[in-house]
Amino acid sequence: MFFEDELHSLKVQGLLREIKKLPKGILNFCSNDYLGLSQHPKVIEGAIQASKKYGAGSGAARLVSGNNPLMEELEQCLTQWKKTEAVLLFNSGYHANIGVIPALADENTIIFSDELNHASIIDGCRLSRAKVQVYPHNDMDHLEKQLAAHRQSAASCEPRALIITESVFSMEGDLAPLDDLKKIAEKYEALLYIDEAHAVGMFGEKGRGRVCHISENILTMGTLGKAFGSYGAFIAGSQVMKKYLLNKARSFIFATALPPASVGASLAALKIIQSREGEKLREELWSSVDVLNQELNLCQGDSPIFSIRMGDAKKTMQASTKLLRNNIYIQGIRPPTVPAGTSRLRLTLSARHTVREIKKLLENLKNIL
Ligand SMILES: *Cc1c(COP(=O)(O)O)cnc(C)c1O
Repeated sequence: MFFEDELHSLKVQGLLREIKKLPKGILNFCSNDYLGLSQHPKVIEGAIQASKKYGAGSGAARLVSGNNPLMEELEQCLTQWKKTEAVLLFNSGYHANIGVIPALADENTIIFSDELNHASIIDGCRLSRAKVQVYPHNDMDHLEKQLAAHRQSAASCEPRALIITESVFSMEGDLAPLDDLKKIAEKYEALLYIDEAHAVGMFGEKGRGRVCHISENILTMGTLGKAFGSYGAFIAGSQVMKKYLLNKARSFIFATALPPASVGASLAALKIIQSREGEKLREELWSSVDVLNQELNLCQGDSPIFSIRMGDAKKTMQASTKLLRNNIYIQGIRPPTVPAGTSRLRLTLSARHTVREIKKLLENLKNIL
């Protein structure tokens, strides 16, 4: 039987995935709820009030009858916060990447994609039918050589070039050299698409993310399901880009709009992220990052994402199970999420973790490292 054979083969390789039932009271160190906003009373209240006013679901795609004033308000607020021209909401970061990338690229485009880009970016590239050149992680010299070769070979009817990177890499937790990327994109007249899933809320002034000047050839994507503690995503870019995307991005056009509750929660979360309270949450988060940097010696420290390399998939899952016995949940990350031989524990911090909880984490980590 095909299904059983396939599942057996995954199991033998230590790659079988199963949904865990987590006991109550567990210390969670693998959520992307970086500021703890998914549990914030004001964010929960935002969801409740939005549901009461607009219902549980949107009933249709936004271009049909799924629009409501809250969505426009959220786009407006995100636009001001990002200091950009326009924002378009998507149902999730995954929807955004598989919709926007094929809208920007086709058979006549070459996409230059960092080798560690997220699966949703890879899927977006595949759907676009564009030619994809993967460049070694954060290797700007290599990227520039690829672009130069592309320009030389293109001669007359030059195909368009699109560079795609994450801003904070989801698995390594390291940062993309955005200034260099911007310069290279400008020099080679390429469009630059930056996925800020793990940057908005935590990085930059008022948690705006790492990209603070969005020019004509730059688009950024931010998710609302991570630091925002809600669900959804948005693209920030120019006015004309917004018009273009709502006509071209199929995942926007052909999917039911976000439920009002998610939009209401995101609006409340955005208010907090911009406020003094958000500032305080960020301070707490980054001070925990400092503690882990000092104690763990992993040569990292650029973000609240820590990658503890174990190499082997089975060994990684055993370490995760061992931690779980002591009430500490850190998910093991295996191929195909990360390249073969680089299985790891991916540890994330949240502003909600207390000093005492971090201490417990460190004690337990020292036992397995
Ligand atoms: C999580 C993630 C996404 C997908 O976002 P969702 O809102 O969870 O669908 C996209 N890109 C990156 C880099 C991510 O980490």
